Amino acid sequence: MSAEAVVPAPAACPLCESAVGGDVVQCPACGFDLAGVGGRPSFTQPVFWWTAIGFLAVYLITLAIVAMTR
Ligand SMILES: [Zn+2]
Repeated sequence: MSAEAVVPAPAACPLCESAVGGDVVQCPACGFDLAGVGGRPSFTQPVFWWTAIGFLAVYLITLAIVAMTR
Protein backbone atom coordinates (compact mmCIF):
# COMPACT_ATOMS: atom_id res chain seq x y z
CA MET A 1 0.00 0.00 0.00
CA SER A 2 2.82 2.42 0.84
CA ALA A 3 5.98 3.33 -1.06
CA GLU A 4 8.06 2.07 1.85
CA ALA A 5 7.17 -1.51 0.89
CA VAL A 6 9.73 -1.53 -1.96
CA VAL A 7 12.65 -0.65 0.34
CA PRO A 8 14.80 -3.81 0.77
CA ALA A 9 15.60 -3.30 4.46
CA PRO A 10 12.92 -1.73 6.66
CA ALA A 11 14.00 1.62 8.08
CA ALA A 12 10.85 1.84 10.15
CA CYS A 13 8.65 -0.70 11.90
CA PRO A 14 5.64 -1.54 9.70
CA LEU A 15 3.48 -1.92 12.78
CA CYS A 16 4.26 1.08 14.99
CA GLU A 17 6.38 3.05 12.45
CA SER A 18 9.18 3.75 14.92
CA ALA A 19 12.68 3.98 13.43
CA VAL A 20 14.68 0.75 13.58
CA GLY A 21 18.13 -0.26 12.35
CA GLY A 22 18.59 -2.26 9.15
CA ASP A 23 20.01 -5.32 10.93
CA VAL A 24 17.58 -5.75 13.82
CA VAL A 25 15.22 -8.73 13.73
CA GLN A 26 12.69 -7.34 16.20
CA CYS A 27 11.23 -3.89 16.78
CA PRO A 28 12.59 -2.47 20.07
CA ALA A 29 9.40 -0.45 20.59
CA CYS A 30 6.59 -2.97 20.04
CA GLY A 31 8.42 -6.29 19.60
CA PHE A 32 7.18 -6.85 16.03
CA ASP A 33 9.21 -9.54 14.23
CA LEU A 34 11.11 -7.87 11.37
CA ALA A 35 13.04 -10.95 10.24
CA GLY A 36 10.76 -11.87 7.34
CA VAL A 37 9.79 -8.35 6.33
CA GLY A 38 12.94 -7.28 4.48
CA GLY A 39 13.04 -10.28 2.15
CA ARG A 40 9.36 -10.06 1.28
CA PRO A 41 8.70 -6.50 0.12
CA SER A 42 5.01 -6.73 -0.76
CA PHE A 43 3.63 -9.29 1.70
CA THR A 44 4.03 -8.47 5.39
CA GLN A 45 2.34 -10.28 8.26
CA PRO A 46 -0.34 -7.60 8.86
CA VAL A 47 -1.25 -7.71 5.16
CA PHE A 48 -1.59 -11.48 5.34
CA TRP A 49 -3.88 -11.35 8.38
CA TRP A 50 -6.06 -8.57 6.98
CA THR A 51 -6.42 -10.54 3.75
CA ALA A 52 -7.41 -13.64 5.72
CA ILE A 53 -9.94 -11.61 7.74
CA GLY A 54 -11.33 -10.16 4.49
CA PHE A 55 -11.84 -13.59 2.97
CA LEU A 56 -13.44 -14.82 6.19
CA ALA A 57 -15.84 -11.85 6.19
CA VAL A 58 -16.87 -12.51 2.57
CA TYR A 59 -17.40 -16.18 3.40
CA LEU A 60 -19.60 -15.40 6.41
CA ILE A 61 -21.64 -12.81 4.45
CA THR A 62 -22.20 -15.32 1.63
CA LEU A 63 -23.21 -17.94 4.18
CA ALA A 64 -25.70 -15.53 5.78
CA ILE A 65 -27.25 -14.64 2.40
CA VAL A 66 -27.63 -18.31 1.49
CA ALA A 67 -29.17 -19.03 4.90
CA MET A 68 -31.68 -16.17 4.51
CA THR A 69 -32.79 -17.12 1.00
CA ARG A 70 -33.58 -20.73 1.84
ZN1 LIG B 1 7.28 -1.56 16.15
